[in-house]
Parts: sequence; structure tokens; C-alpha cells
Amino acid sequence: MRDFLQAVAALIGPAHLLTDAADTAPYTLDWRRRYQGLPLAVALPGSTAEAAELVKLCRRHQVAIVPQGGNTSTCGAATPDASGRQLVVTMRRLRAVRRLDADNNAITVEAGATLREVQLAAEQAGRLFPLSLASEGSCQIGGNLSTNAGGVAVLRYGTMRELTLGLEVVLPDGRVLDALAGLRKDTTGLDLKQWFIGAEGQLGLITAATLKLFPLPSARATALIGVDDIETAIRWLNGLRQRFDNRLTAFEVIEADCQQAIARHRPGQLPFTAPWLLLIELSDGGDDAALNEALLDWLAGQTPRDGVVAQSEAERRKLWLLREEISEIQKQDGPSIKHDIAVPTSALPQLVRDCGAALRQAYPGVRIVAFGHAGDGNLHYNISYTRPGNVDLFDDEPAVNAIVYDHVYRLGGTLAAEHGIGQLKPQWLERYKDPLALELMRTLKAALDPERLMNPGKWL
Ligand SMILES: Cc1cc2nc3c(=O)[nH]c(=O)nc-3n(C[C@H](O)[C@H](O)[C@H](O)COP(=O)(O)OP(=O)(O)OC[C@H]3O[C@@H](n4cnc5c(N)ncnc54)[C@H](O)[C@@H]3O)c2cc1C
Repeated sequence: MRDFLQAVAALIGPAHLLTDAADTAPYTLDWRRRYQGLPLAVALPGSTAEAAELVKLCRRHQVAIVPQGGNTSTCGAATPDASGRQLVVTMRRLRAVRRLDADNNAITVEAGATLREVQLAAEQAGRLFPLSLASEGSCQIGGNLSTNAGGVAVLRYGTMRELTLGLEVVLPDGRVLDALAGLRKDTTGLDLKQWFIGAEGQLGLITAATLKLFPLPSARATALIGVDDIETAIRWLNGLRQRFDNRLTAFEVIEADCQQAIARHRPGQLPFTAPWLLLIELSDGGDDAALNEALLDWLAGQTPRDGVVAQSEAERRKLWLLREEISEIQKQDGPSIKHDIAVPTSALPQLVRDCGAALRQAYPGVRIVAFGHAGDGNLHYNISYTRPGNVDLFDDEPAVNAIVYDHVYRLGGTLAAEHGIGQLKPQWLERYKDPLALELMRTLKAALDPERLMNPGKWL
């Protein structure tokens, strides 16, 4: 391995190859602290050409690559194994905006730019890059693409898959696929960029992307509303869609157990509680007053338990902060068995009712901390309870998962709506995914990466 490391240091510069344990430590542990790896080293190439040569070197020396972005994956997708033989490759040095074509509503950025940096670059040109996640200050475009990230504005703008016009990818043999064109239409064969979106770094190293931009909204109306049940929440979702169409930008829910966790860790910040809280946002190109009035007018015809409509940008930020801090609050609240599930929005009430009843029967006293993007049918559905005798909660993880996923699949859902599979869920993918779909994905993997050097030990 010494020859290999010397060759890498000569290629990217010794300062950009981290080998000391103290330097590699931040890259070895996943965000939830569930997976601890031991890498051979961490490499930070400074250009696409360097990344391509690095991949060729890895192939020559049969060194496996674990691509890592901001390391915010919640399922261990970017964590190396414990063999001490895998090379973590991060794009942190590749973060330039290569081109911003405002007239084409497109931006070409390098994969190591954080999501926040891309949002800001778009804003400076009077445009919106609408992907929005609580981790946006740390996660990178390469990671967002590789997980097909979603977030709070999918309802209106779609996931990363819909937001991508083109990609630049270093293939596992070191060749560079340049498919960065900013086209909205192209019928010259298969759409190759889609192979790499959601692939969790198992098919290649993404080095740059051309992404869609949108007009910056000039008006926003944001409300926090309390309702009695999830049935009412879904009725509201459809009513708001009918009235406001795609001006409905976000529709998030926070259920009662989750509100209690917020109250425990951020006392006094929830203005009120209810069985379900809805965080609703509209946006358009008009003015705030008119949009607020339209929302208030619609609300006047409903019967919420309680509600508040933000009257200023500061109030709006405060409402969003409540939602954005939930993942961090849950981390402080102790371990939980996490699910990132989605069903058709019409099936959410049945899921909440039936799955909740099954869990309560199996685990009396269970806390079901449910929150998330109900407008997309996506719930973060996290289970915790105190086990008698202080037994580890995760001993029950397989049984809890089986209850949750059986209900989800019975309703036509998915076990990974936006966080991916990583190291956490491969066995569940095997159990629930159509075998033919898995076979086709593996055929692609074998064709592109026959030596299995791209992020091995994950799900492909
Ligand atoms: C507080 C919090 C809130 C979150 N909220 C959301 C949310 O609302 N919606 C959502 O979708 N996710 C959310 N996430 C999950 C996470 O932030 C996303 O999955 C994000 O897209 C991961 O980006 P990253 O740069 O951190 O990737 P990493 O965690 O570093 O990597 C994720 C995967 O991408 C691969 N990868 C990274 N860079 C590259 C590259 N250049 N080329 C090829 N493969 C690469 C890695 O190998 C790994 O498989 C949240 C996470 C946290 C901690």
C-alpha cells in the first residue's frame, strides 16, 4: 500500500492526502454515530482530471473507493468499512460554480459545493435553487445527487432527480462521462445521468452537475396549524392544492409525540400543541400581503384547532426552525429506530392508523415520533420506548422494521423515500424490492464496475 499512497500523494499533493488518524477521524463516523469505519486514507482531488487519474490508480492497485460528501447520510452510506483498506474520496476541493446561465435557468456546479453555497449562488443571480434540507449547510451536491435528496419543497419542485439537467461523472475505469448539457429535451437514447442519481456512489464519482433554477419567489405565506388527525391533514393538503395549485410549496406535519420531544428540548418554542401540526407554505411572484390574505381567506373556511400565520420574515424563520431542528432534537432525545417511508398521500391515514395500532399492541408505551414531508406521502417515522431491564432498543429493530415495512408495502409504499439504503437497509431492500428490478440494477453495476471498487459493502 505504500507505493499506492506515494503515487496518490504525488498526484494530488501530499497536503491533500490524509493518513493520520486525527485527520481522517471526521470521515470515519456517520452522522448518527452508528457506523464507525477505518479508512486506508482520505483523498481530496482538486480537479476532475485528478479525480479521474485517482480512480485509475485505485483500479491499478485494487483499492476500493468510498465517495463522501458532507457525511450527513443517516444510513451509513458514506462510511468506509473497518478493514483499513478503503480509500475515502471527498470532493471538498471541487466547489466552483463553473457557469450560471440565468437566461437558461441553469447552474453548473462542482460536486463538492455545499447545497447552501449553490442556493446562495443562484440567489445572487436572482434565481432559486429549490432543494432545501435541514442539513443544507453541510451536505454537498455530489451527496444530494447520489441520494436523490428530497426535502421540504419536493411538492412543488421535485427531488434532485427532477432538478438535474446534466452530470459529469468519473466512471469506475477512470474515463470521464461529460453529460453536463443544460437541455430540457433530448431524445438521443437513454438518459444516462439518471443511472448515477440515487446510486449512492456505487457506479461512479460525480464531479459536477448542471441543475435547474427557477424564478426567486417574491412572496411567501407560512402558517402553523393544529388539526385533530391525519385524515384532516390530508383533506387540507388536497384543499390547498385545489385552491393554490403549485403555489403550495411545502406541507409538513409534526405529530404529538414529536411535539413532546420538541417541548422537552426547546421549551417554550412551540406556540401551541395539537394531535397533528401542519407547517404550510405558499410562495409566488406577487407580494406577501396579498398571498397572506389569500391564505387567511382559505383558512377562514376551515375549522383548525389552533393556528398562527407568520407576519414577518423573522416569524417565518422561527416556524421553520421548529421543523428543521427535529433531527437534531431526536439525536439529543436518545436512540430511536428510524424509518424514512413513503406511501401514496391518499394512504397516509391508513398507514398511521393501522401501523400505529400494530406497534402499540406489540410494544405498549411505544413513542411514535412521526414528522416530515406529508405533502409527498413521506414520513420520518421513528420508534422509541423504554425496554424493561435496560435492554438495547436496537435488539428489537428487525421486529419493529418488519411491522412498519409490511404495512408500508401493503399500501404500495417504499422503505427509503429520500435517505437511501446505505449500510442500514440492504437486507430490507432484498426483502421488499422487486427481484427483477434488483437484477437489472446489478446488471448495470457489473457492466460499469466489474471489479466492484465503487463503494463496496453497500447494497448493490
Ligand atoms: C439534520 C438532517 C436533515 C436531513 N434532512 C433531509 C431531507 O429533508 N431530505 C433528504 O433527502 N435528506 C435529508 N437528510 C439526509 C442527508 O442530508 C442527505 O441524504 C444528503 O443528500 C446527503 O448529502 P452528503 O453530501 O452529506 O452525502 P454523504 O452523506 O457524504 O454521502 C451520501 C451518499 O452519497 C455518496 N456520494 C457523496 N458524494 C458523492 C460523489 N461526489 N459522487 C458519488 N457519490 C457520492 C456517498 O458515497 C454516499 O453513498 C438529512 C440529514 C440530516 C443530518
